[in-house]
Amino acid sequence: MDYFVEPERKVPVVNDVDVLVCGGGFAGVAAAVAAARNGASVMLIERYGFLGGLATGALVITTPPLNNGINREIARRLVDWQSYAPDWAKDDAMDSEFIDSGDNLLPYDPEATKYEFVRMLLEEQVEILFHSYIADTLCTDGHIDGVIIENKGGRSAVRAKFIIDATGDADVAAQAGAPVRTVERPITMMFNMADVDSERALERLGKWTGLKKFMREAIANGEIDFDLGVDADFGAPGIFAADLIHKGQLNIWGGMLYSNQSLDPAQRTRAEIVTRDHAFRMAGFLKKNLPGFENARLEQMSTEVGIRATRNLEGELSPAKKEVVRGAFSDTVARPYLGKDLAVPYRSLLPKKIDNLLVAGRCISADDDIMGRLRLIPVCSATGEAAGVAAAMATAQGISAKAIDVGQLQAQLAEQGVEL
Ligand SMILES: Cc1cc2nc3c(=O)[nH]c(=O)nc-3n(C[C@H](O)[C@H](O)[C@H](O)COP(=O)(O)OP(=O)(O)OC[C@H]3O[C@@H](n4cnc5c(N)ncnc54)[C@H](O)[C@@H]3O)c2cc1C
Repeated sequence: MDYFVEPERKVPVVNDVDVLVCGGGFAGVAAAVAAARNGASVMLIERYGFLGGLATGALVITTPPLNNGINREIARRLVDWQSYAPDWAKDDAMDSEFIDSGDNLLPYDPEATKYEFVRMLLEEQVEILFHSYIADTLCTDGHIDGVIIENKGGRSAVRAKFIIDATGDADVAAQAGAPVRTVERPITMMFNMADVDSERALERLGKWTGLKKFMREAIANGEIDFDLGVDADFGAPGIFAADLIHKGQLNIWGGMLYSNQSLDPAQRTRAEIVTRDHAFRMAGFLKKNLPGFENARLEQMSTEVGIRATRNLEGELSPAKKEVVRGAFSDTVARPYLGKDLAVPYRSLLPKKIDNLLVAGRCISADDDIMGRLRLIPVCSATGEAAGVAAAMATAQGISAKAIDVGQLQAQLAEQGVEL
């Protein structure tokens, strides 16, 4: 391959903190809040201009129960958005239902979430730096000295005693040389339609899940051509939330695009183009053909196509599905939602080879067959909370991630309301 050799240059160090959190999704926000509450000076760096990651930017908008540790607090703050909350959650007395509603998927408003997350970080004096891309990691003998960021101000560095990789893609772990593996999952463009007459649509569909059948039949009957010459299944759109956040608003999964290696910039570009095209075609088709959609409009698409996974850490432990579901680790540090045994051990956050790094969120270490469940939102924030507390402990005690007394970490998590 042809290449340039970059000239050596000095990079200004723009900040020096105890804990640097890379990425501002549910995992990063929980990690930053937890680290700050445990006495660390914390900075969070995010490439976009908002927080929430996929959960807000990719219009995911539904989550399993947020009913343990910091998730409980997040749920309460989101329910406080009375005008945005669904009717049944508006009444204060219903708070507990919102928080403890078993297996139900709960809706939340992405804009309220972005706003509340900024407030949570500012309340804890976390320094936020938006529009900054973590481009590289400065590492000596298995120790990260700092990260290189790029933004409109140019290229600079942040020095930190401890790093939490909450990029979702294990970017920092991979840059630092910790073992990671690449993974491939189907990707989806989520979009919202507004001004839908739900009652009329439901007369035709029976229930919202009938939309999938409706689309599949249309494709089978040749009424619509979605063949773009790519490996895509447009017959799999789903509805995740209808009339829940705003009356007449539907949150729709566009088609699934398979075989996309999302770490490849060219394939990622193609995915944006193809999935946006699909979403527009689907919205147009519904408007023309489904009763109740005559006045509907495509209101919003994800900031970027929803990518479930790219890399996972190969940490000190990659537990198997049965172990995670049984939930009986001696080093359990996250029990994402009560009512299920699902548990995450500290070793799933702990990279090999790097002494001052923890990984949180959808790129932690576990077998592929359980990662579908471990990528759910409450798991990401629960692992973020555990990583944040551990990072603050490590910096306060001047020890490595591996040297942490897990019993002490568990006690501290319990102290702040995490039921392990
Ligand atoms: C289509 C789709 C549907 C889903 N449906 C559901 C569902 O119904 N319920 C559910 O619970 N979960 C669902 N999920 C999964 C869930 O949304 C995610 O796994 C979860 O939100 C991930 O949180 P995170 O904080 O680990 O990562 P992310 O949300 O990906 O956050 C990572 C953050 O880091 C930033 N970042 C990344 N790299 C860099 C870098 N190099 N420099 C600076 N910043 C960087 C990103 O911009 C982002 O803000 C879905 C996911 C997808 C894609």
